[in-house]
Amino acid sequence: MSIRIGFGFDVHRLVEGRPLWLGGILIDSPKGLLGHSDADVLIHALCDALLGAASMRDIGYHFPDTSPEFLGISSKELLRRTVSLISEKGYRVSNVDATLCLEEPKLSPRIAEMQAVLAPLLRVSPSDVSVKATTTERLGYTGRGEGIAAYAVALIVKD
Ligand code: MG
Repeated sequence: MSIRIGFGFDVHRLVEGRPLWLGGILIDSPKGLLGHSDADVLIHALCDALLGAASMRDIGYHFPDTSPEFLGISSKELLRRTVSLISEKGYRVSNVDATLCLEEPKLSPRIAEMQAVLAPLLRVSPSDVSVKATTTERLGYTGRGEGIAAYAVALIVKD
């Protein structure tokens, strides 16, 4: 049995006039994340953690933000494709753990929904999908509300 760990990190800028997608769900917010896709920063960090665990480069390598194919694409589709990519190498997801860094809105009431949406895409149960949120005590770009950052680790296994 092969067990491998991977790490992912992503940042997107917060701007007016965009919907805020986080963890595959729409969050009520006056600002949203700017990006070529729907800019779901949490899912992008998860994709990079999974690809990193399989030593398969990164999200930009597989889904370039210069390609019209991925313009406005749901990041849930990118995650689904990422899980397929690692499954082609014989890996399945064991569990993931992610942290979002933002001042507002408070995400605690929506975490269970994110777990429910992400679990089938990862082909695991919701209890294998940990999503956490923290502020950065109003410090730095996340603290000033200029953007949202996400960190993720993933464990993948090959039987
Ligand atoms: Mg990104």
